[in-house]
Parts: sequence; C-alpha cells; structure tokens
Amino acid sequence: MSSNLPLDFRLSRLTVESLRNLCDAQGVSGDSNLLKKELIGFVQESIGQSVLEDFCSTQEEIYFAENMAKAIKWATSSKIVDFDPESDYTLVNAIFTMRRSDGYEVYHIRFVNQTTEDIATSCECVDFREKGYFCPHQMTVLVRCLADGLFSLDQWAGPMTPEAEDLILANVFRRKRSRS
Ligand SMILES: [Zn+2]
Repeated sequence: MSSNLPLDFRLSRLTVESLRNLCDAQGVSGDSNLLKKELIGFVQESIGQSVLEDFCSTQEEIYFAENMAKAIKWATSSKIVDFDPESDYTLVNAIFTMRRSDGYEVYHIRFVNQTTEDIATSCECVDFREKGYFCPHQMTVLVRCLADGLFSLDQWAGPMTPEAEDLILANVFRRKRSRS
C-alpha cells in the first residue's frame, strides 16, 4: 500500500517504542532519552529516507492486517453496523456502535465515490481524524458492505492490501455461502 502522506506525519503516528526498535535495528544510538517529537527528528537525521519509508510501510501494513482481522470478526454482528437505507455503492453512510465496559463507542462513517479516483472515506475516531488511518470502524463497515453485496471488492477503490483482500475472500464470502 503506497502512501502519499508526508514522511514526518507517517513517523509521528508510530509509537515511541517502535521508533526506538527501529533505532536498535539500525544500530543507531542516542535515542533513549528523547521525547517523541525529538525522536522523530532524530531518526530523520540518523536513518536514510528509504529505510524510514520502508519501515513506515511495514508498520502501516501491520496496522491494516491486524485491524482488518478485528473488523471481519466485528462485522459478523448485525448490531455493530447500522446502514443508512439510502446507501449504495457510490455513497455509504453508516453508524458503528460497540458496547464497551464503560459505555458505547459510536462513530459515523462515510464512504463517497468508491468507483472513482476521488474516493473519500471518513470516521469520527482519533485514528482517522488525527492519524489519517483507514481505521477498524471503517474496515468493519467496508466488510459489511461487501458481505451484504452493496458493492464488490473490484468496485472498492479505497484502501486495501493483498493480504487483507485474501482475509476477506477467505472469511467473509465463505461464511456467507455456508450460511445460505
Ligand atoms: Zn474509526
């Protein structure tokens, strides 16, 4: 999954721990007392850009795969995703609701123009708003769209990886067939 986001933004959404692990792996020292902001500057001065880009891509793929696995599980519950009945393959509005020990997590999710280059997806959560991730809530809605036949994987122009596609094909559609 290629990213058009600026490198310092991509680094800023990684954890301090994974930035330190990167320094270790690259044999770079001097990072141990730095706060996150300084650490991001430090890795950019100490480690080559292509190494940093590869590292970010790997971390982003892990985020995507882990959350897609969660989303596939969540999407099986009919209570978690509630579609606006007007939703179709060009425009999806949905509400993601999950019960937590301390209350409910509720997010509005929107997908626009999946079949064009102007794909836009959004969620109200921090992972999307502050970190720009295609978050697990959006993934859950996506999986339900696919499972309910709102559109097919071929028609989806939003974020996807080959690994996640395999997960969806193996779990969502097999399960759907076995139910009928
Ligand atoms: Zn979200």
